[in-house]
Amino acid sequence: MPATLAPDQVCRYCTALADSRDPRHTTTPELCRLMHRDEPHIYALAAALARALTDPHPTDAQIGDLLTDADQIVYGFPVPPTEWHVELLPEHEDDWDLDVVTRLSINGVPHAVDTDNNLVPLALTA
Ligand SMILES: [Zn+2]
Repeated sequence: MPATLAPDQVCRYCTALADSRDPRHTTTPELCRLMHRDEPHIYALAAALARALTDPHPTDAQIGDLLTDADQIVYGFPVPPTEWHVELLPEHEDDWDLDVVTRLSINGVPHAVDTDNNLVPLALTA
């Protein structure tokens, strides 16, 4: 996928995320690149995650907050899907023991938000 940002540009999501926090908090093109790759399917997954986890109509800042997770999750898919389907899954009785806060399905692959607020494939939390 071609990059969409110029080298000196910060993506709109990192910009919104920085603006939503401490007003003195700024972001830079370097931090934006460290947070996530500049690829359309990563932005699309972050938006799908935000719709499921945060708000049906997420703001750019809410999407920005999930870009690092989206970047990691994309690695779990050998071929990045062109469309993302994210659904919350029912709780399990052993979630407490597994440090699982929320279960969700990402294109059919079970994932979990753990107690450290990491979003990981569910098999790795066991
Ligand atoms: Zn960014």
